[in-house]
Amino acid sequence: AFEGLAERLQGTIQRIKGKGKVSEADVKEMMREVRFALIEADVNLKVVKEFVKKVSERAVGADVMKSLTPGQQVIKIVKDELTELMGGDQSPIQFANKPPTVIMMVGLQGAGKTTTTGKLANILRKKYNRNPLLVAADIYRPAAIQQLQTIGKQLSFPVFSLGTDVSPVEIVRQALEKAKEDHNDVVIIDTAGRLHIDEALMQELKDIRALKEPDEVFLVVDSMTGQDAVNVAQNFNETVGITGVILTKLDGDTRGGAALSIRSVAQKPIKFVGMGEKMDALEAFHPERMASRILGMGDMLSLIEKAQENVDEEKAKELEEKFRTQSFTFDDFIDQLNQVKKMGPLEDIIKMLPGAGKIKGLENAKVDEKQMGRMEAIIYAMTPQEKTTPSIINSSRKKRISKGSGTSIQDVNRLLKQFEDMKKMMKQMTNMQQGQKGKKKMK
Ligand code: GDP
Ligand code: MG
Repeated sequence: AFEGLAERLQGTIQRIKGKGKVSEADVKEMMREVRFALIEADVNLKVVKEFVKKVSERAVGADVMKSLTPGQQVIKIVKDELTELMGGDQSPIQFANKPPTVIMMVGLQGAGKTTTTGKLANILRKKYNRNPLLVAADIYRPAAIQQLQTIGKQLSFPVFSLGTDVSPVEIVRQALEKAKEDHNDVVIIDTAGRLHIDEALMQELKDIRALKEPDEVFLVVDSMTGQDAVNVAQNFNETVGITGVILTKLDGDTRGGAALSIRSVAQKPIKFVGMGEKMDALEAFHPERMASRILGMGDMLSLIEKAQENVDEEKAKELEEKFRTQSFTFDDFIDQLNQVKKMGPLEDIIKMLPGAGKIKGLENAKVDEKQMGRMEAIIYAMTPQEKTTPSIINSSRKKRISKGSGTSIQDVNRLLKQFEDMKKMMKQMTNMQQGQKGKKKMK
């Protein structure tokens, strides 16, 4: 998401960054561009106006003008305000003091409620060590019940269903009893959606709410519907009442308008974002990190978290040690390739690196997974000595390796260069990681 916005804002930022002095005219000019960028990203007009006003007021303030790095100062203000716009701090899940915690999923048809029910259950188990029961309360489409059952089976979660003949309220009532019996500490209710908001749907949701006040009512909305998503959020909040928003399909949303407007219009925080169809593609929403990403400052924290989730701890420690002692070899490189593969599509990972937005063409570049296969083949064609001491690979060895792996000499050269680059990058990353840790402690 946010590709267009990111590109525009980063362009503006580059221009203002190094300025020794920032005049009021500079700020005005920058704000014009920010305004345009936000409108183009499909951000709600009222939100754009307020945002630009706030940033302008702060940016022409005495503090900025007197500061030694006024350009940087303005960028910081934009980042702060973007963060604020998206809700400020990350908004955690509210758990009941006395289990079970009841989470209700509401939203229009096709928004992603059923899918997200599974993803959320996954997070609850993995990160919070909970044991959720999924409840099939969408009785209008038999396929909906089946869909939830399939997800439950796939992830090994119990699914409570009474078919399509019992009312949703009764289903939820019995599900709550069942959860008590089976010691499920979280109950996630997958409700029915409609194509449009209608009175009957709202009443049904209110009836379920009345049975037992849920700890969370998550509105699931499709970010690709842009300002419609924002209107739906406002409407649901006013009629049914919601506690938070889960924004799905952010992976396919290039503009980001809903993500930027919802908090301010509907007055409810985005708690999670859906980043794909797979069951592990749900992430906690961190406004500050998202703002950094939009401004091309990268998102090292998310990247490190992602790595920590997927990478074997022991292996990671071993690798870190190897980087430090410079004893990293091609065998480790293969290990590393495999770890990276587990983290998901390479282009997603690269996007989180600071400055990635500035690398020309990267936003469209599909990192070639085939090339990873080629790399592996080349490494397997090396002798053990070549793997540990790549500096001995002269041109006759290169020839042999390229022949043995069915690749070209250029491929071999490229890999050797990549190996060196990777060593360098990893060194930077370990440094940065230590920097981030230090910052966190200071807070
Ligand atoms: P519901 O009608 O609200 O229950 O919606 P579903 O859970 O059935 O989802 C509708 C479609 O959206 C399915 O094909 C999902 O795979 C897809 N979907 C849900 N969340 C995401 C997401 O974050 N990214 C992508 N790309 N697809 C999603
Ligand atoms: Mg559904």
